[in-house]
Amino acid sequence: MNTIKEQLSLLKAELPSHCTLIAVSKTKPDIAIETAYAHGQRDFGENKVQELIGKAENLPKDINWHMIGHLQRNKVKYIAPFVHLIHGVDTEKLLREINKQGKKNDRIIECLLQIHIAKEESKFGFSEEEVELLFQSEELGVLENVRIIGLMGMATNSDDTEIVSSEFSSLKQLYDKLAGGNCPSNVDLKVLSMGMSGDYKIALAEGSTMVRIGSSIFGSRN
Ligand SMILES: *Cc1c(COP(=O)(O)O)cnc(C)c1O
Repeated sequence: MNTIKEQLSLLKAELPSHCTLIAVSKTKPDIAIETAYAHGQRDFGENKVQELIGKAENLPKDINWHMIGHLQRNKVKYIAPFVHLIHGVDTEKLLREINKQGKKNDRIIECLLQIHIAKEESKFGFSEEEVELLFQSEELGVLENVRIIGLMGMATNSDDTEIVSSEFSSLKQLYDKLAGGNCPSNVDLKVLSMGMSGDYKIALAEGSTMVRIGSSIFGSRN
């Protein structure tokens, strides 16, 4: 395994300039984040609220913290003051809670809607139909303290590249369709978050603008 520094520079050389790299640091110690930070990395992703707030307290204040995991409504308040982007917004109820906490903190919280694209039943997310209905409804535009800046999706965990690429491709198509239509005032689509260590090359080929990569940078997790 290369060092964190080597892995970061390999990845950065590979990613097109319009693609943002989120270094997924979940389960990894502060020192690993500090190492990546020292090499210029500023966007980090975590999937547990407790771990995210602990790390945010200890580490440099100019880090952009991305909440990439499933988020429970009762925990939104803990990250609302500082979170940079919430990737996994998967219900309208959660969006309303983020809006409420955004208001309390006098900020507009940027969010991605998670779309269910994988075959697996257990994955969270809106269906395409649900998202299209949400975009047409009056309820979205009134949430003044959230801004929806894109979509996020996870492909089936499979070696079959055709399955993975068709899932990413369907998400890109949905993104283009939504971006080309009438969007509520608090929607400004510019991010398509798809791709992890095992499938980011396929995601890039299908139009990803943000990849979330953990083990390829920091090594495998226990
Ligand atoms: C853990 C995680 C990643 C990164 O996974 P790797 O395979 O380590 O790159 C990306 N996205 C989400 C939502 C995750 O939970």
